[in-house]
Amino acid sequence: MSSIFTKILNGDIPSHKIYEDDLVFAFLDINPVQPGHTLVIPKNECDHWLDVPDSSYLAVMRAAKVIGKAIHKATGCKRVCTRIEGYEVPHFHYHLIPTNSTSDFEAKPQSMNGEQLAKMAERIKNKI
Ligand code: AMP
Repeated sequence: MSSIFTKILNGDIPSHKIYEDDLVFAFLDINPVQPGHTLVIPKNECDHWLDVPDSSYLAVMRAAKVIGKAIHKATGCKRVCTRIEGYEVPHFHYHLIPTNSTSDFEAKPQSMNGEQLAKMAERIKNKI
């Protein structure tokens, strides 16, 4: 199912890209639960993670470890926590959220301006 994430993949709307390979794309969440909150998605469109082909799913998980380590280093957080939800955007995405506590993980999304997001994307990319 086509969604806003397909528009990001096609370059029709901008994103703060963190990582890309043949099967996977990752970018900063526009309303992060914590600064550095990143979404890792397969390039092929699929809504529910249970329906994602293994090749894409495993590629997302593999990339998520690489990106998660970079988030860990860039933010100095205690743990990079993960979430799969998908009620807002029907294109499978794996949330990577840097945290220092459970309440960090459960925090409300915040707004960051384009400059703040761009700086954070650079910090994470530099650690990959
Ligand atoms: P969910 O579908 O509930 O797992 O979450 C969808 C996530 O996508 C939310 O955290 C949104 O902030 C995020 N999101 C929605 N539109 C964009 C966008 N254009 N760029 C980056 N992140 C987005």
